[in-house]
Amino acid sequence: MQIPRQHTGVQSRHCGCHEIMSTGHGKIGRRSALKWVGRIAAAAAIAIWQPGAFARAATAKAPPTRRTVVLDPGHGGIDPGAIGVTGAYEKEITLSTVELAASLLEATRRYKVVLTRRDDEFIALEDRVARARAARGDLFLSVHADAIPDSDVRGASVFTLSEHASDAEAAALAQRENRADLIAGIDLSRHTPEVSSILLDLARRQTNNQSIVLARKLVAELGRDVRLLNNSHRSAGFVVLKAPDIPSALVELGCLSNRDEEKLLRLATYQKKLATTILRSVNDYFDQAGAT
Ligand code: ZN
Repeated sequence: MQIPRQHTGVQSRHCGCHEIMSTGHGKIGRRSALKWVGRIAAAAAIAIWQPGAFARAATAKAPPTRRTVVLDPGHGGIDPGAIGVTGAYEKEITLSTVELAASLLEATRRYKVVLTRRDDEFIALEDRVARARAARGDLFLSVHADAIPDSDVRGASVFTLSEHASDAEAAALAQRENRADLIAGIDLSRHTPEVSSILLDLARRQTNNQSIVLARKLVAELGRDVRLLNNSHRSAGFVVLKAPDIPSALVELGCLSNRDEEKLLRLATYQKKLATTILRSVNDYFDQAGAT
């Protein structure tokens, strides 16, 4: 049974689970934002924002030896996600694959691994991001399996956040977070909402760049072992990828709408293979200079 739409997000693509948040409402371009605050505020923001500040802040917040990797098994509870042609539930495949990946990552002793869920429970999309931020994640990976109309199509793919997050959203987030915490090492309470918005936008851009690095590692490693979709790296406005200060990606392990791939995705051996590609991708990501 497909989950009622109100449980899963605003719009849906692919597997009916995909959490796409509209970015078209209230969009205010960065140029317009700069007009609001004027040249003085913009200059102040640039003066405050020093190149590398985010990287230093990220270093300061992270443990010196172990990085925190947040893995997010898609769906759960009343939300089964996509359902395969012979009845496989996406929520079960994502959880078991993530558990395997977590074991592999923990075995390296390089990482602290946090799962957004460990059981068959429903967790709202925003809560998944909140859990990642509460854990002070250095990396966030949401794991899904797709279902599409063309049953001949199969293959894995990776998503990063679309660049089109609006300044209005950033300002609203800054407003909320002003009360609580730092974002990306920036003490938002010290700045006007307008300047905070610009600083947050800069942090978000750097996070997006790191997310793209992560996505490319995933595509490269998945491509070594499993079939990829032709268009293997795309971007969209997924709610779960909206943490402004945690590099994030969403991986579609394959297509449950394809009979052969559904069969594979059910297999523990295939899930282990996928989990191993996640391990290698995470290792590659943190090994790459500039990603930490
Ligand atoms: Zn999904």
